[in-house]
Amino acid sequence: MNFALPIRTFALYPLVLAGLALAIGCGRTISPRAQWGEVVTQISTYPALSDGHYQGQIAVSNLVAFGDHGLGTFDGLDGEMVLHEGTVYRVGVDGRAVAAPLDALVPFAQVTWFTPDAMYDVMAIDQKLFRTTMAWKQPDIGHVQAIRVSGIFSEVRVRSVPRQSEPYPSLDSVVADQQVEHTLRNVRGTLIGFFTPTAVGSVAPGGYHLHFLTNDRSAGGHVLDFKLTAGRIEVDDSPELRTLLPTLPPPSDGPPVGKPR
Ligand SMILES: [Zn+2]
Repeated sequence: MNFALPIRTFALYPLVLAGLALAIGCGRTISPRAQWGEVVTQISTYPALSDGHYQGQIAVSNLVAFGDHGLGTFDGLDGEMVLHEGTVYRVGVDGRAVAAPLDALVPFAQVTWFTPDAMYDVMAIDQKLFRTTMAWKQPDIGHVQAIRVSGIFSEVRVRSVPRQSEPYPSLDSVVADQQVEHTLRNVRGTLIGFFTPTAVGSVAPGGYHLHFLTNDRSAGGHVLDFKLTAGRIEVDDSPELRTLLPTLPPPSDGPPVGKPR
């Protein structure tokens, strides 16, 4: 009898190993949507972007694992990025949208898997009324809200920015001196973006940050103003904001003299 227990235990090892293999196998089958569905993933921080850190941090092919909805920019601040229904578009200063190559690098982005928690059909609202309406319907409870507004727009004013070269200027100076604006009229399309609550602080762009893409996916940009004739607002409440910190170049003056490296 004394030998029976070890033998029986040993006999269970294959079952245990099979169970472990199954568990590992199951782990591999978790879809990105299931893993990241309620999370907004942000690449880099808004202060880093504002300071001119436009070096790409992640390839488009990897970014789309974290969501099918989002916005951002490209390496060197080369245009506005829109992620809509799983495809990443780049909008250049000509206002035209084209699908971005999968190996394009992204220095800053916010993305999530979009599953609306609330939707509102609206008519005849401009940007100011949109914000007032949303403050009432979707009060700031400290969560990030992914926002999608689709419909017919009598006007959308958008901008994009040209590619920068190093040493990179600050985002404020690029926007002030180099942004190019376009006004799209009587167009069907979608506003895509996020509301970031004040409680998040400066890590992310505060308030509403929206990009635009036409239904034929030929034009868009960072939204400066809009007038919606009729459409639908959809909101995906996101209680988790995950920030992947950027890898920045070391200070050009190196470590302080006399201090250990
Ligand atoms: Zn933007």
